[in-house]
Amino acid sequence: MTTKAFVIGHPIAHSRSPLIHGSWIAEHEIDGSYTAIDVSPADLPGFFERLRTGEFAGGNVTIPHKEAVFALCDSVDPLAETIGAVNTLVVETGRVHGTNTDYLGFLGNLDAGAPGWSDGLETAIVLGAGGAARAILVALQSRGIGSIVLLNRTRATAEKMAAEMPGQIAVAGLEAFNDVAPLAGLVVNTTSIGMHGTKFENFDLSLLPARALVTDIVYVPLVTPLLAEAKALGLKTVDGLGMLLHQAVPGFEAWFGVRPVVNARLRQTIEATLGR
Ligand code: NAP
Repeated sequence: MTTKAFVIGHPIAHSRSPLIHGSWIAEHEIDGSYTAIDVSPADLPGFFERLRTGEFAGGNVTIPHKEAVFALCDSVDPLAETIGAVNTLVVETGRVHGTNTDYLGFLGNLDAGAPGWSDGLETAIVLGAGGAARAILVALQSRGIGSIVLLNRTRATAEKMAAEMPGQIAVAGLEAFNDVAPLAGLVVNTTSIGMHGTKFENFDLSLLPARALVTDIVYVPLVTPLLAEAKALGLKTVDGLGMLLHQAVPGFEAWFGVRPVVNARLRQTIEATLGR
């Protein structure tokens, strides 16, 4: 019997997940499918009823449903609870289990792009306190990074997030970047700045230690102005596309029973679609 998986969102046409999972299905010659399904917020409960019939092995959840599916899942793992979002569903014997693989995607991307990046890393700057930032904070804490500074345009949002997360997280506005930069071994951009060529004002990346790693989770464009400037200064950089690819691995394994590999060919396939 064909194993079926999906990504739901609203809208969903832009999603690159069908291409990622479709490549792996073909590569492993699996009798399976992965399709994008547009589900409006009003139709979400009905879609969960459909899931409980066993039609699908599971699937991904994207904007705007990552928070709303919490209440509809039969179980959610503690990590997804901490992150406050579900991006992966696994259906087993009529029950829908929710999890979050974004933090594994973030870690997998850095492990592949900058092996050993967390060894001896003491202080990390996280820019942004939106939905993606929570997964990044959990990821950094899972690697034992003790000093995390969360900088956000709206300070109150970052303060609320830091208070809800385990561990100590220092909070300030984006204007504090130059003060904290000399201490930071890692800078992660999780804001939407960088999309469409937008850039941070008044950040002096030359204040970062020479060994610092700069990474962006924005991947359109692949080289954001932040990464371009860091590269020009000779700093190590990792772009955000790998996070998208690596977050897909655990879901594929759960639905299709094969652990896929993120390789250069897959990256090129997805990269080729980024300009569209
Ligand atoms: P979100 O929840 O809407 O959060 C947006 C964040 O960006 C907030 O911290 C917001 O600050 C900040 N921001 C937006 N416009 C700004 C501006 N003009 N100046 C300063 N700060 C600004 O978005 P998200 O879901 O976290 O996603 C953020 C980005 O990550 C998106 O570009 C998304 O595509 C990307 N992403 C990539 C991956 C991947 O796999 N690579 C995964 C998830 C997300 P305020 O709190 O002040 O509004």
